[in-house]
Amino acid sequence: MQGDAFEAAVKAVEEGFVVCLSSHVNPDGDGIGSLLGLTLILRALGKEVHSALPQPEKFPPQYLFLPGRDCLFHPEELPDKADLFVALDCSNPDRLDGLWSRAEGADVLLNVDHHEDNSLFGDVNLVDPGASSTSELVYRLSRKGNWDLTPEAATCLYTGLVTDTGRFQHRNTGPGALAVASELAAAGADLAAISREVYESQSLSYTRLMGRALERAEVLPDLGLVYSYVTQRDLRETGASLPETEDLIDHLRTVRGTKVAALFKELEDGRIRVSLRSRDGAEVGPVARALGGGGHAGAAGYTSDLDLEGSLARLVEALREAGHG
Ligand code: AMP
Ligand code: MN
Ligand code: MN
Repeated sequence: MQGDAFEAAVKAVEEGFVVCLSSHVNPDGDGIGSLLGLTLILRALGKEVHSALPQPEKFPPQYLFLPGRDCLFHPEELPDKADLFVALDCSNPDRLDGLWSRAEGADVLLNVDHHEDNSLFGDVNLVDPGASSTSELVYRLSRKGNWDLTPEAATCLYTGLVTDTGRFQHRNTGPGALAVASELAAAGADLAAISREVYESQSLSYTRLMGRALERAEVLPDLGLVYSYVTQRDLRETGASLPETEDLIDHLRTVRGTKVAALFKELEDGRIRVSLRSRDGAEVGPVARALGGGGHAGAAGYTSDLDLEGSLARLVEALREAGHG
């Protein structure tokens, strides 16, 4: 990352008045945490802030407690022309889905992200693959700009940090992430509420769905692959929703002797969303990219047009091609 990327980003924010913010499709804790955290920071700076997610209907229920959620607009309500558009936690324009035209139409587009495959699509790119999370980058940006950080904004950013690091267990956890966590705690982040709401407020429906998925887990030992799946029928029968299932794959990933975990989730339109996680130094980013998606070494994903069986066969083939097994 360019040494002056933070300065350029501070300048872009300070010069804009009408500011739009967004994050990625299939929103996760870091996308939502960085979006709401920066929304609150910029509101406090007196900006006219319009924030929206491209798929508001996919908002995971475990993040409904976050402050600032009432500031979110419907994507259609964002102004066509903003002084500044900030894309958070998006590795490429596709991740903004229908909001890309507004991002492109803004006077300045600021890209804040930590994916190693970021396509540097912004006018200003604050992209650091060494950062644990986009929320960490938003925190560092706020320090660079000397902007006020309320306890509410700190709660949002800590949520992004804790979820993208898998509660400070994944390999993106290092001195930097832990230092930022400490500073966010000092700024008043509500750690107790975050643990309770994000990790201990699961619905009975999702608990049962998790039971089904874990019971079906299979291992392909030669590939070091553990996998399972969730169908639309499972969702109907248990009453769970897909956005609730963000941490299901973390349970699959704990199986000893495996290197890659895959969870196949059937979407309403029949396509399959595939989540990949790695362990013990394996990398899933290249495999996800080879199959049309993207992500980090440790966490990546893509969408498959094949059925469940076909998607598994295609993944096995891609893992072999990528040198797994
Ligand atoms: P998920 O399994 O949906 O939690 O995705 C894991 C990570 O992979 C996300 O945080 C993204 O960084 C990345 N990812 C997933 N799907 C895609 C995609 N279609 N294109 C680019 N990156 C993706
Ligand atoms: Mn994300
Ligand atoms: Mn992230």
